[in-house]
Amino acid sequence: MKLDPDLRLAILEKVGIFASHLSIAEPKVLLTTKEVLEIPKELTAGRRTTAYKYYGVSYMLHNLVFINVKKIPDEKTLENTIAHELVHLRFPYLAHGKRFNKYVRQVLRGKRFHPYQKRSANPA
Ligand SMILES: [Zn+2]
Repeated sequence: MKLDPDLRLAILEKVGIFASHLSIAEPKVLLTTKEVLEIPKELTAGRRTTAYKYYGVSYMLHNLVFINVKKIPDEKTLENTIAHELVHLRFPYLAHGKRFNKYVRQVLRGKRFHPYQKRSANPA
């Protein structure tokens, strides 16, 4: 898709809505490979020069996502990609698979998730 100011705004809005539904802090969003290359190397280590290959990349430790608008063919794929990357941020230990895909579908349908709660190391 071609990134113009309207699309940029629409994507940021969508990220804001999904992030709120997932009860996570809104991530910083990069929308071009140029933006990926411009930010400090430490933040994108490991997936910096290869980011262009994917529809999206999440840099979970830094609450940062890259949505590769140029590579994404249509609106549906765009929404899917945004939901996918945000599910990574909400469920950092969950690998791709059935459960992951279920969460993505739920996000797309507007489901709201409770904040992530770390399990207590010493339950009372
Ligand atoms: Zn993924």
